[in-house]
Amino acid sequence: MTMPAPLKGTVTTVRTADVLVLGGGPAGVWAALTAAKHGAKVVLAEKGFVGTGGATAAGNTTMIHVAPRTAGREAAIKRRLAHAHGLADQKWIERVVDDAYLRLNTLADWGYPYPSDPSGRSYRGSLRGPDYLRFMRSRVRKAGVEVLDQSPALELLVSDRVVAGASGINRLTGKPWTVRAAAVVIATGGCAFLSKALGTNGLTGDGLLLAAEAGATFSGMELTGQYGIAPAFSSVTKGIMYFWATFTDQDGNVLERAGDRQSVVAYNLVKGPVYAVIDKASPHLQEGMRRGQPNMFLAFDRKGIDPFKQRFEVTLRYEGTVRGVGGLAIDEACATNVPGLFAAGDAASREHMVGATSGGGGPNATWAMATGTWSGRNAAAFARQTGGSHSRRITAAVGRAGLRPSEKPDAAITAAELIAAVQEEVLPVGKTFFRTGARLRASQTRLDSFWSAARAYLSTRSAPAAEIVRAREASAMIATARWLVASAIERRETRGLNRRLDFPEADPAQARCLNSGGLDQVWVRQAPSARALAS
Ligand SMILES: Cc1cc2nc3c(=O)[nH]c(=O)nc-3n(C[C@H](O)[C@H](O)[C@H](O)COP(=O)(O)OP(=O)(O)OC[C@H]3O[C@@H](n4cnc5c(N)ncnc54)[C@H](O)[C@@H]3O)c2cc1C
Repeated sequence: MTMPAPLKGTVTTVRTADVLVLGGGPAGVWAALTAAKHGAKVVLAEKGFVGTGGATAAGNTTMIHVAPRTAGREAAIKRRLAHAHGLADQKWIERVVDDAYLRLNTLADWGYPYPSDPSGRSYRGSLRGPDYLRFMRSRVRKAGVEVLDQSPALELLVSDRVVAGASGINRLTGKPWTVRAAAVVIATGGCAFLSKALGTNGLTGDGLLLAAEAGATFSGMELTGQYGIAPAFSSVTKGIMYFWATFTDQDGNVLERAGDRQSVVAYNLVKGPVYAVIDKASPHLQEGMRRGQPNMFLAFDRKGIDPFKQRFEVTLRYEGTVRGVGGLAIDEACATNVPGLFAAGDAASREHMVGATSGGGGPNATWAMATGTWSGRNAAAFARQTGGSHSRRITAAVGRAGLRPSEKPDAAITAAELIAAVQEEVLPVGKTFFRTGARLRASQTRLDSFWSAARAYLSTRSAPAAEIVRAREASAMIATARWLVASAIERRETRGLNRRLDFPEADPAQARCLNSGGLDQVWVRQAPSARALAS
């Protein structure tokens, strides 16, 4: 096994752990906590700060909280299946909601301050993101997990095709770190391509690239045409209030269309500016929204706009795999196809739970909680099987693009330019909300050339930590865009978040998951069945 040069800096802090969790959002904190509860020595490395990083920390999050054997549970499961466009698996939905029910109640047992509903009963169907994560941070630390804040992972370590830890860098000190571990959980969230959508600035697909470099497989990467409606002057993509909106064009003509709210905005945004006013919400609802989702109103208040009375310009901000679907293919244990590598939350494909479109109502946060728990438990079990010898294994660091260029580095190839170029292929509504084979193939050609440039020439070896991280983020975004576009080319139908203008109908013969993967050579193939994602 060849041993690539270590990361910048001569002194690398090396730790050993049974389980290393990458990413400290809901999936990561549940994974870390559960692995520790099952006796594992756990390290949790987070790009930002555990408690304020990721998509949940930025707002409130709806949860599916339904008791076993109740009509509410049956209705919630039916609702999910009805929105899944034929790709979800009822058994998975059941196990996710049943597990999350236990976790949400456990939070109450631990003293999490749930609000009460009007009848005085504790209301557990929503969590305030920052409160929830701050609470979980303290539980994680109490459980003895070592938390590495401001410590993005840059690459995985592998020993004989088995994942053996990861290396990264501290963004504040610039010091490299390495954790040798028996099992690694990827909980680095989704990829929103630095679109400036709320809470997604650190979500650049890093974990997906790391996993792909170790040989991991993806699923559902075409189910990613996910945009959130936001005021044109704000990043807030909280979409709930637009249920009660009237949309108009420049001249005040009311815009209507069958389908969801995003479609109304998307179809008209390609023609000109679109405006909204939230004029259908009752005073009671208005007050509830202001109380429940205060950050939705900050930008309006600063501008002196009353969104319930005055119309304001709206836009769509791309959310990619964050509120989309695709990610690492996992089995029931949350294991990827790479031994020792597990995935949870938005980093994993959610097709089992949501099918072809995730939407509102709490499926993603509920999924993050359940898969976080399972990945932690199964990673701890995997570590136990290795019998504690893992820290003595010979390992190789497998990071390539942006870290170890295959050619002599070229300073003219910069992360900033590559990021701008990949955004040009992915963010426009005309390319990703509405897809056509011709446009996708043109994007594929350009993305392949960006990858070749990044792979061959992008290097920041002696640069400050922030630039090293940026180079990996740029590489991760290009890689993610290539799986996304290649998968969208292959799905020649409109299903959920894959809207093909050239194939506007769903094709029953294509009601299957698409697996994808590869770096220098991207591949896509139909999963044998919707139920066999990781195999
Ligand atoms: C505006 C908005 C509203 C939403 N509302 C809801 C809702 O009401 N209900 C619902 O079900 N879902 C909702 N979602 C989706 C939900 O927030 C996500 O599904 C959930 O946060 C996923 O949790 P996660 O832990 O997988 O990822 P995240 O919460 O995104 O956490 C991932 C973490 O990984 C870290 N990370 C990234 N790269 C690295 C790296 N290289 N090394 C180490 N760490 C890294 C990030 O900093 C981040 O802290 C919403 C999303 C958005 C954007």
